[in-house]
Amino acid sequence: MIQSKGYAAQDSKSPLTPFSFERRDPGAKDVVVEILYSGICHSDIHQVRDEWGGSMYPMVPGHEIVGKVTAVGAGVTRFKVGDLAGVGVTVETCMECENCKAGAEPYCLKGMVGTYNAKTYAGEMTYGGYSNNIVAPEHYVYTISPKLELAAVAPLLCAGITTWSPLRHWGVTKGKKVGIVGLGGLGHMGLKFAHSLGAETALFTTSESKAADAKRLGADEVVISKDKDAMLKHKGKFDFVLDCVSAPHDLNEYMNLLRLDGTLCQVGLPDQPLPVSAFSLVTNRRSLSGSMIGGMNETQEMLDYCAEKNIVSDIELTPINRLDEAYERVLKGDVKYRFVIDMGSL
Ligand code: NAP
Ligand code: ZN
Repeated sequence: MIQSKGYAAQDSKSPLTPFSFERRDPGAKDVVVEILYSGICHSDIHQVRDEWGGSMYPMVPGHEIVGKVTAVGAGVTRFKVGDLAGVGVTVETCMECENCKAGAEPYCLKGMVGTYNAKTYAGEMTYGGYSNNIVAPEHYVYTISPKLELAAVAPLLCAGITTWSPLRHWGVTKGKKVGIVGLGGLGHMGLKFAHSLGAETALFTTSESKAADAKRLGADEVVISKDKDAMLKHKGKFDFVLDCVSAPHDLNEYMNLLRLDGTLCQVGLPDQPLPVSAFSLVTNRRSLSGSMIGGMNETQEMLDYCAEKNIVSDIELTPINRLDEAYERVLKGDVKYRFVIDMGSL
């Protein structure tokens, strides 16, 4: 077994503390990655605090992982020792069902296995990126370009792909009008991508203080969502709205932004249901949809696009012994725009 250390939550109420554990020795198809940086996703907070239910402890969170390959199994073809590598939200799928075969592994019919807070098909607990190493099958390990700042690449593995996948799926391109709701880790990547793909892009935010940043990140327009008149002015104007909000909020206000055949895609995962009026849907023949991270091929495609266009996340590095402070600041919307743990601090 490989000795690992990291930080774990022991229950839903206590702070994360140092934790030692073991990972499996690499099998023929496995890659071992020494973790150098790990992003802090709001999903980590939801799961550590058991806001979605079913959390398993001890939990080592983290699914925005970058580092260096330290060992590979005999059957690994894409990586060698010393290469940069990334691991995201998924570490196992059946690879046989129609969704896996279509490159939509997060929707695996047998169930995708998360990087943490999950059990592999063999029944082992998975432990995530707030740790010094990880073992994952090559299929779930990504090639990272050395051209980009490594720490700032980490959030692409979740915040990046979770916004990239729906923007691509719903054909966001030049000539489309796109709204991004919520300027956090996901929202700021959504803005960068929508702008880069050529769409006319507006940010909807509850935080007036984020307006200048939003423009810098790619928003053509910033709308303060608490301003009802401003919201009305944008009614019926948007082809696509990507909702990246982590807390309960009124979806109908954002459905109303959609023009004929427009789509609102929910990627934020509040812990409470979001009621939708039938009138919000039938007006303008609107669609309400959702999207979960992205497939393995499209994740690599997104990483390659970022390397070509020089796109990374805007990050603040944190040492691992200050996770509580980082979590509190994420909850207050007080991070520009993603915390990344410097694993050298472990
Ligand atoms: P985050 O950095 O905390 O950003 C969330 C943003 O939502 C905040 O910055 C804030 O933006 C807005 N917001 C927060 N509370 C609000 C409220 N009460 N009303 C309105 N707006 C509010 O979180 P994140 O890491 O980007 O994650 C966002 C959500 O996506 C989380 O629920 C996470 O679990 C989920 N997620 C889903 C997937 C997926 O596959 N679908 C993947 C990763 C994460 P403003 O200040 O601009 O209003
Ligand atoms: Zn995430």
